[in-house]
Amino acid sequence: IYDFKGQVALVTGAASGMGLATARMFAESGASVVLADLDGDLAAKEDERIVRNGGTAIGLACDVADEMQVAAMVDRAVAAYGRLDMAFNNAGIQVPPSDAAEEPIEHFERVAAVNQRGVWACMKHQLRVMRDQGSGAIVNCSSLGGLVGLPQRAAYHGTKHAVLGMTKSAGVEYAPRGIRINAVCPGTIDTPMVADMLKGQAAAMAEIMKQQPIGRLGRAEEVAAAVLWLCSPAASFVIGVGLPVDGGFTAH
Ligand code: NAD
Repeated sequence: IYDFKGQVALVTGAASGMGLATARMFAESGASVVLADLDGDLAAKEDERIVRNGGTAIGLACDVADEMQVAAMVDRAVAAYGRLDMAFNNAGIQVPPSDAAEEPIEHFERVAAVNQRGVWACMKHQLRVMRDQGSGAIVNCSSLGGLVGLPQRAAYHGTKHAVLGMTKSAGVEYAPRGIRINAVCPGTIDTPMVADMLKGQAAAMAEIMKQQPIGRLGRAEEVAAAVLWLCSPAASFVIGVGLPVDGGFTAH
């Protein structure tokens, strides 16, 4: 939808769901794309597909919970393409719903390591490149769970609120240096993560549909379109927001 020719985009969690849809949309818009995922083989398969379709991409393995791997991922991007203009810090995981009085510490540690520390580390290393360039746009992946709290989601929703806090803090810090940092807050999007969560749970699915003003789940491409808009010059005055892309869920 945009013309990103000559620009470089990095997407984490790029082998599935919203990350994959965004990486593809960046490629279709002319950007050179770095696809990073815990599953490096899947990311590499996708980069081959993009290249077959005339795009420019590399796929690599990276666990965003590990700062050393994040630093290496950013180095790889710069080594391959010489710059970094846009990043979608999307890699994230869910943990099973839990009573707040019973949630195991392992859930907290696992989800915080990926969703919170991962985004923190990605921003940190991306900003080192972007501040030297004096330009860049970063979009972090929060959630409707970064805007509201639903029962049994204390650990997961905590990380998504944290993503918005980091987005605002770094966003105001780096705005004067020509770098815009924002977040998307997806509602319930039809991705493998949600399919996994709702497998065989017709009642839970019916409950979610009841709460969707638009009457359907979101599509990964609808989130990708919002990410590309936030990265584009069309959003040049937008800093530190958590943009709901949720079919109206948080509006009621
Ligand atoms: P998904 O499970 O389809 O894809 C996530 C991808 O991230 C996978 O390819 C996975 O291998 C990768 N990943 C997981 N841990 C990683 C790690 N440590 N390092 C690098 N990559 C890792 O999920 P999705 O639904 O597309 O979700 C993407 C993001 O959107 C997540 O941050 C999620 O919390 C958030 N989100 C999803 C929904 C939804 O309804 N699907 C709603 C709100 C927010």
